[in-house]
Amino acid sequence: MDLRQKLKTKEICYKYAYEQIKKLPKPWSRSEWKQKRAKLIKTECETCGSSKKLTLQHTKQPTKFREFRKRFIDKLLYIYFKSIDIDKLINDSFDLEVIPEKRLCCPVCDRLTIRYRETYEYNYICALGHKFKQPKIIDYYKHARTKDKEAAKESYAKWIKFQAKLILTDLYDNRIGRACLLSAMDESEIYMSMKHTKTLCGSCAFKEDRKYIK
Ligand SMILES: [Zn+2]
Ligand SMILES: [Zn+2]
Repeated sequence: MDLRQKLKTKEICYKYAYEQIKKLPKPWSRSEWKQKRAKLIKTECETCGSSKKLTLQHTKQPTKFREFRKRFIDKLLYIYFKSIDIDKLINDSFDLEVIPEKRLCCPVCDRLTIRYRETYEYNYICALGHKFKQPKIIDYYKHARTKDKEAAKESYAKWIKFQAKLILTDLYDNRIGRACLLSAMDESEIYMSMKHTKTLCGSCAFKEDRKYIK
């Protein structure tokens, strides 16, 4: 296909190629498809032998562009994070960059919701009803809304990884798009060749379709 060649040689970008593909008539509306189908369909169902409402069923579904792209990005991130030792990097930068706030809490249960009461001997009371004279001071990680350091670090790590994903996918958008669109085109070509098909009757086809939906 001309479009594929142009995409391979980088004459066109994947976005343009994608738009062109979407404009093409659907394969099953082309006469070529109908003829091929008529040639391949057998006179009885390959599962039960019935000859009622025979259809040519595809036994293999093509992988979509979006799925290829997702897999590609996952792999790219995996390799990238491994190469820079992301966990160590996050650990180090967390201690440098994330400065917790000091907050007052209940010395018994560590709850932050405490109330000051002017006239009582035990001036403070927490949401659970613990009474005390002096609140405890603890670290509070505002960005993750937690006082748990590990949870704060986990949320920070998630954020860093998400930012890296945005940057990498933006940086390599063309490269990822081209590779994945070419893969998707290969699969769709195999699909359209009808290599992986079988003749099924109406009720067997219905059962197979339900399997795919699940
Ligand atoms: Zn059947
Ligand atoms: Zn308490």
